[in-house]
Amino acid sequence: MQLDAKIPGGPLAQKWDRHRFELKLVNPANKRKYDIIVVGTGLAGGAASASLAELGYNVKTFCIQDSPRRAHSIAAQGGINAAKNYTNEGDSIWRLFYDTVKGGDFRAREANVYRLAQISNNIIDQCVAQGVPFARDYGGLLANRSFGGAQVSRTFYARGQTGQQLLLGAYSALMRQVGLGKVQMFPRREMLDLVVANGQARGIVVRNLITGQIETHAAHAVVLCTGGYGNVFFLSTNAMASNVSASFKAYKRGAYFANPCFTQIHPTCIPVHGTYQSKLTLMSESLRNDGRVWVPQKPGDNRSPQQIPEDERDYYLESKYPSFGNLVPRDVASRNAKEQCDMGKGVGETKLAVYLDFADAIERDGREVIERKYGNLFQMYEKITGEDPYETPMMIYPAVHYTMGGLWVDYNLMSTIDGLFVLGEANFSDHGANRLGASALMQGLADGYFVIPYTIGGYIARTSFSSVSPDTAAFKDTAREASDRIEKLLSINGKRTVDDFHRQLGQIMWDYCGMARNNQGLEKARGMIQELRAEFWQNATVPGDDKDFNQSLERAGRVADFMEFAELMVIDALARQESCGGHFNEAYQTEENEARRDDENFCHVAAWSYSGPDKEPEFHKEPLIFENVELTQRSYK
Ligand SMILES: Cc1cc2nc3c(=O)[nH]c(=O)nc-3n(C[C@H](O)[C@H](O)[C@H](O)COP(=O)(O)OP(=O)(O)OC[C@H]3O[C@@H](n4cnc5c(N)ncnc54)[C@H](O)[C@@H]3O)c2cc1C
Repeated sequence: MQLDAKIPGGPLAQKWDRHRFELKLVNPANKRKYDIIVVGTGLAGGAASASLAELGYNVKTFCIQDSPRRAHSIAAQGGINAAKNYTNEGDSIWRLFYDTVKGGDFRAREANVYRLAQISNNIIDQCVAQGVPFARDYGGLLANRSFGGAQVSRTFYARGQTGQQLLLGAYSALMRQVGLGKVQMFPRREMLDLVVANGQARGIVVRNLITGQIETHAAHAVVLCTGGYGNVFFLSTNAMASNVSASFKAYKRGAYFANPCFTQIHPTCIPVHGTYQSKLTLMSESLRNDGRVWVPQKPGDNRSPQQIPEDERDYYLESKYPSFGNLVPRDVASRNAKEQCDMGKGVGETKLAVYLDFADAIERDGREVIERKYGNLFQMYEKITGEDPYETPMMIYPAVHYTMGGLWVDYNLMSTIDGLFVLGEANFSDHGANRLGASALMQGLADGYFVIPYTIGGYIARTSFSSVSPDTAAFKDTAREASDRIEKLLSINGKRTVDDFHRQLGQIMWDYCGMARNNQGLEKARGMIQELRAEFWQNATVPGDDKDFNQSLERAGRVADFMEFAELMVIDALARQESCGGHFNEAYQTEENEARRDDENFCHVAAWSYSGPDKEPEFHKEPLIFENVELTQRSYK
């Protein structure tokens, strides 16, 4: 299948306006004749559900949690980008666009990224109108702070709880529509499969997580907003329930999976501190505004940080990247932290940590100012580590945080299955090989509030729909397959817990498909994943039954999907014989250990289609064409 991104013609800055004009419209009175399923209630799903219902469509919204408010988006800390230029630092839509394309190491579509930068300003207006309590400066304008990969302050924030406040805004808009009867809310439902009828996405199969009942739901279009798949690594900063299952099931039904190997490893997380840990904690990137990253100059220096004098410290980011300093993008900061630890300069018990030090900032601005900016983050750090970051530097290390890969979508956010749209972290669209900080919230809300309301209408207006209902064969067959799989999981009767399998899978991925990769390691990982998967289906133990609330069963289903999906990530990493952004193949680096791209052979999106059980997935290419920015070696010096 030829991958057609359906990028509108015309100058970059006019593409979205022109497209919105050219898209066919659905008459307001006709919208109520169409049903739309939205899966997920994070920022992308919450925003989409509210906006589509506001337009008049009948929306059915599903999520795993007991309340839409508990979606993983609530965890987002640092902020959301927009090109408002309130600070007069010279920001513009063009600069946000350029920073994002460059930050993604030139592996994202120009047209999508430009649209994102344009819409960024509308998002802030919308959220302010909803009452989101963004921080403000002395004159009452919204305040900004800096994030990595940019030399302007363009990040809007609500202390360290920006995701929570934005989600409350989207949730209020969603609940308004629930109150008006336009959104039917289905919490505690897990999508187990996608129903495709006559080549169109027409519904989903879900499990009621409280009663165990399998339900089917039909609609004219399905919108997946199911988040990222970082938990394939077991240890990550993602919420425990984050998973790949909905996307992966859609992949098996015909949606292509794009750039699955593009994973973001965030440089500032609380280091792993034990083998029984099941979750990692992020320390927001905003902390790099004031915190200085350093290690002892001498490898193996075991003195406490206070005992190490200034001239024996290595502020390696500041010296290596004088222009961006501590605010280099995440992939660069993470790789440098690893490099320091590999040289024996890591700190703390495990030696897998570097310092993030606020002493200078506290001396300069006073403790009160620092507390106002980061108080809740400092408190969280102290609760977890028992150390007071006002007194002693934080210790941080990179951890899995975000996934740039996702289901392939065209400019309309439609996948390769007609009528299946994918929004937010679940799609691959805007961040290329590395996402800049504070751009995920921007993208999720852009997709949900401002893109899908137009593009879904364009699809509906030009499509003829046959009548389908949960009584038709497509629904019954898909539901039966979902039930069979549950039965199969429950009947393994093995001896090893699902978590144990998951932990081992995560270790394989971290060791061989993590911050640095090489071909030999990737080949080895592929074999290890296949073996582990075979053992899973022989030896996993899944207690309880399917007619009840059973979290072991839920986890088993998600881990079973990770077992298959991990191999696709490795296949994708092996196919991309270059380094770019978060994909760092050790064979391809510059003399200064930066990622070395191969634009001649790999300036494309790699999209994979499912070929059947135990068959090689098929590779499809979407060439990336840059007409407005010049492809250069990224430099943050
Ligand atoms: C700790 C942390 C801090 C972050 N801070 C920032 C930040 O400051 N700025 C920024 O821009 N980004 C940040 N990010 C990234 C950002 O939070 C996420 O990328 C973004 O919130 C994802 O939103 P989403 O709507 O796509 O998905 P999510 O918020 O992950 O929502 C997924 C939804 O899908 C549902 N779901 C999933 N699978 C199924 C299924 N099978 N069936 C039914 N429902 C399902 C879930 O229940 C949930 O409702 C942070 C991430 C982390 C981990």
